[in-house]
Amino acid sequence: RFGTVAAVEEPISPPVEVNYTKLLINGQFVDSASGKTFPTLDPRTGEVIAHVAEGDEEDVNRAVSAARKAFDEGPWPRMTGYERSRVLNRFADLIEKHNDEIAALETWDNGKPYEQSAQVEIPMVTRLIRYYAGWADKIHGLIVPADGPHHVQVLHEPIGVAGQIIPWNFPLLMFAWKVGPALACGNTIVLKTAEQTPLSALFVAQLLHEAGLPDGVLNVISGFGPTAGAALASHMDVDKLAFTGSTQTGKIVLELATKSNLKSVTLELGGKSPMIILDDADIDQAVELAHFALFFNQGQCCCAGSRTFVHERVYDEFVEKAKARALKRVVGDPFKKGVEQGPQIDEEQFKKILKYIQSGKDNGATLVSGGDRIGDKGYYIQPTIFSNVKDEMEIAREEIFGPVQSILKFNDLDEVIRRANATRYGLAAGVFTSNLEKANTLMRALRAGTVWINCYDVFDAAIPFGGFKMSGHGREKGIDSLKNYLQVKAVVTPIKNPAW
Ligand code: ADP
Repeated sequence: RFGTVAAVEEPISPPVEVNYTKLLINGQFVDSASGKTFPTLDPRTGEVIAHVAEGDEEDVNRAVSAARKAFDEGPWPRMTGYERSRVLNRFADLIEKHNDEIAALETWDNGKPYEQSAQVEIPMVTRLIRYYAGWADKIHGLIVPADGPHHVQVLHEPIGVAGQIIPWNFPLLMFAWKVGPALACGNTIVLKTAEQTPLSALFVAQLLHEAGLPDGVLNVISGFGPTAGAALASHMDVDKLAFTGSTQTGKIVLELATKSNLKSVTLELGGKSPMIILDDADIDQAVELAHFALFFNQGQCCCAGSRTFVHERVYDEFVEKAKARALKRVVGDPFKKGVEQGPQIDEEQFKKILKYIQSGKDNGATLVSGGDRIGDKGYYIQPTIFSNVKDEMEIAREEIFGPVQSILKFNDLDEVIRRANATRYGLAAGVFTSNLEKANTLMRALRAGTVWINCYDVFDAAIPFGGFKMSGHGREKGIDSLKNYLQVKAVVTPIKNPAW
């Protein structure tokens, strides 16, 4: 035990303790082979929450052997889909039962507002696990007609041992996006959490075992990217790799997968998503949703609407209203009621964001609001807006991953399509208009994996999510995610009497 979460003036969460800090291998919480640990920090203060076992290559090897054995010999891939769905549904019930406690742990480790953890993120996790529980007994192959006298079956089988590497911005939601479909299809897993946020996955992994998951089916390794992450990506006995993180690291893990055993890889990477506001849009709604699209989760979203293109006729009004909204944004201790924005995840990200803010100022964008840190403790940053941002500026090209909104001006539909698509990324886009024809044009023209029209960040379990271009390979959530975790086997049998 490592004490309880520090008291705040108006605590709104239940007290929570950190009880799980070891690696989960073969159903047991164990120390790392090296005996090393690393601290996980409270972004509100930079103080240590707990020391967590630090996994490295040897631990990954142990975890992969356990997952391999659970796949080759264990009951999990051979259980009926219904039995697997029962485990996943019980797991969802247990998450629901512990919702507030898990939310508090998530907020403590990540810094996001507790109200958002408790009312949005953890309920989305529960919903997603139930969605994939629903699929577990509905996964099947098909019979295809062949030219010759052959009976042809196409079987959909689990792919084997899945290696999964997740980021820190939505620690438990990313856990669910990975684990849900992989388990529904009957795979076994070695999952590496982000070094900034190891706690919530360990907590729920224990609940998954309480729900009846056999030992070795899910192994959870806390540790760093270049050590534990790289060992997993390059492991010869891992059949599939799913990664969410930066485009830069995505390239590294893809290369490691290629150089080792050519394991199939899905990547969910960065973005620089356009948010396009036409002159016929409901401006107040567009201001509010553009604000949400960028500032949600402290701006730490891969699909953040980080290039806000506004038509010149409504530009000045939009900038004024966006400024008023940003100035109203409540930033503070994420455990306090009504707080919309907590601290950034860690010092590295905090410094990087401040560097981008400086770059916006240096390159001649107009600072409309914010532009600095808040206080002198923790990683709080003012909701910052730049207007008069030009396409070639660093803040309009690179992923900032922080509370910095860049507003750009346009005057014509073809122009904004060209500029919106002039990026190596292609994760998401937002379109705000009341004109159906224009919405249809933009929806077809934008090169992005998701286009939200008059809405943003709608993340139902059934909606596929992923990127065009350098935002990634493959899709998560929905029916598409199942394909990542299934092998296709064609079985051909001669038919002796084709007349029948
Ligand atoms: P960020 O820069 O936002 O932390 P990363 O893409 O570096 O994003 O991190 C996402 C995940 O990838 C984390 O779990 C991290 O530990 C892991 N990671 C980082 N570097 C590597 C690497 N070289 N090999 C494998 N995994 C890595």
